Amino acid sequence: MATRLDGKQLAAAIEERLRTTIAGRQAAIGRPPGLAVLRVGDDPASGVYVANKEKACGRVGITSLGAHLPAAAPAAEVLAAVQRLNADPTCDGILLQLPLPAGLDEGPLLLAIDPEKDADGLHSLNLGRLLKGEPGPRSCTPAGVMALLAAAGVELAGKRAVVVGRSILVGQPMALMLQAANATVSVAHSRTADLAALTRQAEVLVVAAGRPRMIGAEHVQPGAVVVDVGIHRTDTGFCGDVRFEEVEPIASAISPVPGGVGPMTVTMLLVNTVVAWCRRHGVEHDLGDLVP
Ligand code: NDP
Repeated sequence: MATRLDGKQLAAAIEERLRTTIAGRQAAIGRPPGLAVLRVGDDPASGVYVANKEKACGRVGITSLGAHLPAAAPAAEVLAAVQRLNADPTCDGILLQLPLPAGLDEGPLLLAIDPEKDADGLHSLNLGRLLKGEPGPRSCTPAGVMALLAAAGVELAGKRAVVVGRSILVGQPMALMLQAANATVSVAHSRTADLAALTRQAEVLVVAAGRPRMIGAEHVQPGAVVVDVGIHRTDTGFCGDVRFEEVEPIASAISPVPGGVGPMTVTMLLVNTVVAWCRRHGVEHDLGDLVP
């Protein structure tokens, strides 16, 4: 039976590290770290995500500096809010909660975020830094996957890894991080011919296709480590992109949905914020292992 890659448990352990890091440096820095989640409009799912992020900030001692603008806010008003947060000396991380209401173009707004405060790690400059192996905030979901693999003692150097999905949010940065850890990486997408033949070569398989239960036993090599990034709400709860009950008996390790990658994504947002807080004040931190 496969080991569970338990994101809930690991997220709690990392939160404990963050609490200690913040408590030990706050006196020297003179203030706690600050994270601003900028929400525009009233998308109900976003409301839940923002509340979860703010609760997580509260647990570790990060101040929430969020702002909530009405759905009708013009782009100039959202831009002004971003610029205010860029200039705010108590703000170390900024996150623009997506999706934005129809009519607002997220591209220029995301680019307007100060790259040093880019808590999501999705600014073009930070994706470029990841590509070049330079330090900077890292995309939260793939960084969370790397932390899950590291905590489970999965050795990546020399391993054959396959990532299913090539989005900027997950697949692409995931592939870069696995490659930086010296895995040999292939990326599959919707035009990949014979997906199962490719994924069966994987010793480490990360699935981020956004297709409920698409990956089954026929896609997985015995003993593979399988990470399921997908998350889908169903009538009976949540499911991932992987048919868990089919794959668990043949994998050596597998992440559950929920409770796998999801909790790690929020935690890495906190990590990016605390690292930025330390960096801005020239203070050492011991979170480097969480920044792949
Ligand atoms: P996108 O829809 O942006 O990207 C999906 C990718 O999967 C695309 O590259 C697409 O290929 C590829 N794909 C789709 N169908 C297939 C297929 N049949 N075979 C092979 N590849 C396929 O999704 P995201 O990357 O944003 O998210 C992926 C999943 O992860 C979603 O379920 C999302 O909800 C979840 N997610 C979970 C997070 C968490 O914290 N747990 C955080 C972020 C996302 P192509 O490029 O050719 O279209």
